[in-house]
Amino acid sequence: MRIGILGAGPAGLYAATLIKRAKPDADIQIFDQSPADATWGFGVVFSKRALEFLREGDPETADLIEPKMETWDGITISHKGEKVKVDGIGFSAIGRLEMLKLFQQQAAKVGVKPIYDMRIDSLSVFDGADLVIAADGLNSVVRAEAPQSYGEKTYFLHNRFCWYGTTKPFETLTQTFKETEYGFFNVHHYRFSPNQSTFLVECDEVAFRNAGFENMLEEEYRKICEGIFVEEFEGHALINNNSIWRRFPVLENARWYHKNRVLVGDALHTAHYSIGSGTRLAMEDVIALVDALKENDFDVTKALPAYQEKRQPVLTKLTAAALSSALWYENFGEHMALDPWELARSYALRSGRLSIEDVAKISPRFVEQLNLREKEAAL
Ligand SMILES: Cc1cc2nc3c(=O)[nH]c(=O)nc-3n(C[C@H](O)[C@H](O)[C@H](O)COP(=O)(O)OP(=O)(O)OC[C@H]3O[C@@H](n4cnc5c(N)ncnc54)[C@H](O)[C@@H]3O)c2cc1C
Repeated sequence: MRIGILGAGPAGLYAATLIKRAKPDADIQIFDQSPADATWGFGVVFSKRALEFLREGDPETADLIEPKMETWDGITISHKGEKVKVDGIGFSAIGRLEMLKLFQQQAAKVGVKPIYDMRIDSLSVFDGADLVIAADGLNSVVRAEAPQSYGEKTYFLHNRFCWYGTTKPFETLTQTFKETEYGFFNVHHYRFSPNQSTFLVECDEVAFRNAGFENMLEEEYRKICEGIFVEEFEGHALINNNSIWRRFPVLENARWYHKNRVLVGDALHTAHYSIGSGTRLAMEDVIALVDALKENDFDVTKALPAYQEKRQPVLTKLTAAALSSALWYENFGEHMALDPWELARSYALRSGRLSIEDVAKISPRFVEQLNLREKEAAL
């Protein structure tokens, strides 16, 4: 069986590994436009639950990445000079490049050799393949070849974000909110190695325009961001890695396959970074695809519909939660009128999937303190 994979990001490398494990005689060709040691962004964060899912489905990969991860419990909401801890939610994070290197090793172990530095613009390189896996991310060439066949829908959120790193290691995943002379800013920050953190700055359109970011060089807007979050850095600085201001794209596809081509990961869907699940979803798509192939004796005509049928209901729930979270952030300036505890409450309920009673089961200390404060305020 000949399989072509476009993209050697998390989804592509993982797909190659799982397919080779299941079908050692598969002939896999995998291309990536970037060098093997390059990536964008900094760390990726997984919730404890996401890692548990991975361990259930693939203990070998969980064993590979977990020892390299930074772990902590809880989220800190920092607002108006107060830090509110929402306890009970476990997280782990790893550098994106480190994770890709582990995936590269894993693929090499089963005999897959990706071809790097090779941009593919025409799918003719995969002529004769039995299956083509589109793991080529948001701007998928595979999808672009026949967007109507996939029923693609893309739109952009309004807020702007810029993905930086910093050498300051933060204790927990922290959401810091700041009102500035330009308008409203927030930052998602968490450590992904003992001496590095992701620092993802977000602002609304008004703040973006007032600050004049559009017409600035990267070092100019980096200085402004360092100034806004100077208290958080404690002398550390921001690290640039292609850190440009973007709007988050929301991508959905009604049909996940066309002929012998199938979409996985960011080529198929996006999930807002505020729920930190894009990589996990990409890996779970791959697990579902390879399960469908195995269950259908690698008969592509049966496996691709089976993949969509089984995976879509689960994925739709997660992407809906990600979208609710993203929409909460679209109005974060309004939420900042709340006091720190009420803001934390609103944040904890933002996905629309949990009631405050549900939150109390996950984060008992947080809800206990919240109730206590509400009682005191009512007296
Ligand atoms: C700001 C931000 C923060 C995020 N934070 C998190 C997080 O904390 N946790 C998390 O789980 N996820 C996070 N994500 C999402 C995560 O990065 C993606 O969901 C994940 O990388 C998807 O993996 P993928 O393999 O599908 O696609 P990608 O990682 O995009 O990989 C696609 C690969 O295809 C290659 N490629 C594309 N086109 C071509 C071509 N024509 N020819 C050859 N090669 C090509 C690219 O070079 C790339 O290597 C974040 C995303 C953003 C934007």
